[in-house]
Amino acid sequence: MSTLRFKALELAQSRSLVAVSAPSNKVSDYFNINVFNDQAMKSFLSKEAYEAVSNAIQQGEKIDRKIADQIAAGMKNWAMTRGASHYTHWFQPLTGATAEKHDAFFEPTDDGRSIEKFSGSALVQQEPDASSFPNGGLRNTFEARGYTAWDPSSPAFIMEGSNGSTLCIPTIFVAYTGEALDYKAPLLKALHAVERAVVDVCASYFDKNVTKAMASLGIEQEYFLIDAALSNVRPDLVLTGRTLLGLAPEKGQQLEDHYFGSIPPRVQSFMIDFEIECYKLGIPLKTRHNEVAPSQYECAPNFEEVNLAIDHNQLLMDVMEKVAQRHGFKVLLHEKPFAGVNGSGKHNNWSLITNTGVNLLAPGKTPQNNLQFLTFFVNTIKAVHDHADLLRASIASAANDHRLGANEAPPAIMSVFIGTQLTQVLEDLVSTKSKSQAAKASKTSIDIQKIPEILLDNTDRNRTSPFAFTGNKFEFRAVGSSANCANAMIVLNAIMADQLKKFKVEVDGQIKKGKKKEEAILDVLKGYYKSSKTILFEGNGYGDAWVKEASKRGLSNIKTTPEALNAYISGTSKQLFERNAIFNSRELEARYEIMQESYVKKIDIEAKVLAQLAISHVIPSALSYQQKLSENVAALKAIGVTKTGYDAQFKFIEEISKYVKHIRENVEKMIAEMDKAHHIADTHKRAVAFCHKVKPLFEQIRKSSDALEFIIEDDLWKLPKYRELLFVK
Ligand code: ADP
Ligand code: MG
Repeated sequence: MSTLRFKALELAQSRSLVAVSAPSNKVSDYFNINVFNDQAMKSFLSKEAYEAVSNAIQQGEKIDRKIADQIAAGMKNWAMTRGASHYTHWFQPLTGATAEKHDAFFEPTDDGRSIEKFSGSALVQQEPDASSFPNGGLRNTFEARGYTAWDPSSPAFIMEGSNGSTLCIPTIFVAYTGEALDYKAPLLKALHAVERAVVDVCASYFDKNVTKAMASLGIEQEYFLIDAALSNVRPDLVLTGRTLLGLAPEKGQQLEDHYFGSIPPRVQSFMIDFEIECYKLGIPLKTRHNEVAPSQYECAPNFEEVNLAIDHNQLLMDVMEKVAQRHGFKVLLHEKPFAGVNGSGKHNNWSLITNTGVNLLAPGKTPQNNLQFLTFFVNTIKAVHDHADLLRASIASAANDHRLGANEAPPAIMSVFIGTQLTQVLEDLVSTKSKSQAAKASKTSIDIQKIPEILLDNTDRNRTSPFAFTGNKFEFRAVGSSANCANAMIVLNAIMADQLKKFKVEVDGQIKKGKKKEEAILDVLKGYYKSSKTILFEGNGYGDAWVKEASKRGLSNIKTTPEALNAYISGTSKQLFERNAIFNSRELEARYEIMQESYVKKIDIEAKVLAQLAISHVIPSALSYQQKLSENVAALKAIGVTKTGYDAQFKFIEEISKYVKHIRENVEKMIAEMDKAHHIADTHKRAVAFCHKVKPLFEQIRKSSDALEFIIEDDLWKLPKYRELLFVK
């Protein structure tokens, strides 16, 4: 009798609501309370120290050691009023998770007593024993020389724990030789590059007052929430974050009754609790709702500057998991926790905004404004067109491979959706007919006449596009739900920076030759549109027709991670990143190595868990049932029942033997393939072997296991079933 599953079910069904109390009825009373924000800095720092931090944030100015001591002391005093006893540098190594190592403020003194201390040097730089973080050969393990360095542009915050709180200082993580070992260092470089390019284009052609700009990001986070007791007795969920086996439930999402439906009380209580924790950390959560699949939900904060938005998203995932525990839930951030139901993504809403308050991807009201809009709009399309493979690489992961192209998420083909209206605008721009009409209308600024008043209300929506224009921003939808968005944002902002720089050179060239500014800009944009049109697609991105059409257009459809990652180390990518001072070639090679390696590890772990489940859970259940059937047949025979009387039982017995044999053979095959793959020295080739030799056997094993789940007596099945995982709440 599989008691664990039924005990878990009992527990899941008997849970009561966990009471949640907000610090105040008004969020504004406690929003940001655990953040060393401007207000906290003003009250805890000297004027001199405050200015130094402000300049560091705004101008990227260096902070000297003496001031750093003052800042650290102020930060510590503030943190202690919020109950913190420890501090940590908080960074984002290439493991995908965030890393912390807590040190106490407490320091013993010579006279046998102790004081609370936090020095400037401890704030600015630390040397965690870095040897066990992925480095792709950049740093010899025996050296273990890497350091974390304070990123003043993302504010320090307090992480509350059940037994004490910790001051967290966002940092970058780099090798002593300067190479990045994390996500944040290259992200900051990419953001710097795009800002410079945006300011250059804006100030030169559109508005001299533009002296600063930022890339903005609003991250929609999808996730599954299931009962923790049920999740805990599924080794696959515990160890891999997804179910490797499981018969699809009789009712899935076919009724579409979950999307935007009413939120179950236990879930809502979790959400409120989680939002409170986020507000304290200054994460501006705005929306929550049910998603399409059963037990799937989404939350989204207001957009922020990219670096901050990503820190907040990393923090949000962490907070989510901690709060879920209090409510007896397990959060599944995996891209595809359940076969046959929708997976989860993390839509990245992205735009560019100037210090003059202009969203450069919002169509304006006048032709002049619209020239600026068209500039950034068309340059984005061109950038995506020219670097589609790199963008595809930026979202590649073992987990996301299950989701992309699975009829519910964007395919692995990169394309851009812009809507019928903007398509028309661009078509008009390049059509020769309207050009002659416009020429008649005005002899002086021919083309400017052609820029229509683009309506602000761009209501076209296409849920199937991986990269869609949604009125005043682009939405990169192919990013996976568990990913650190930095990968996607490093690439997107890097290609945009590079593209804008090229644009500037081309336009300046034409102006030098005597063309008027507007004309030059329009001419270059027209050329871009013509040469990157193939990336635009307005139809159903989930359909097979698009796969065929895309291939005709010469667009890539790279389905698996080991192949997709190759774009990181192509000649064009290396040049692009080097030209924009984001990665050198060594760093790219190292990252590539780490990502291939991580792919291998993920598949390797899944294979091992699957083998274990099949051998120690599925087959024993099958044999118990078969034993029961055999006893039944023997008993029937003994009382004189003839063959037709136990025919049905006999068929079950045979079927079970068939499936058990199939599982056993495929597990053996899988282990042999893993063994072979592990002996391949080249990391990429090893990853390819795991992808194409090992992984396909998962499906084989699963097929037979799911068939067994269908026929075996319910009481004997050990693993919580899909219907229980997805519908008990
Ligand atoms: P949708 O357009 O997908 O229906 P919303 O308008 O609610 O949904 O936006 C989704 C996300 O996009 C939110 O996080 C929102 O803050 C963000 N967003 C809105 N405007 C911008 C912008 N200019 N830059 C970046 N993100 C933005
Ligand atoms: Mg959206």
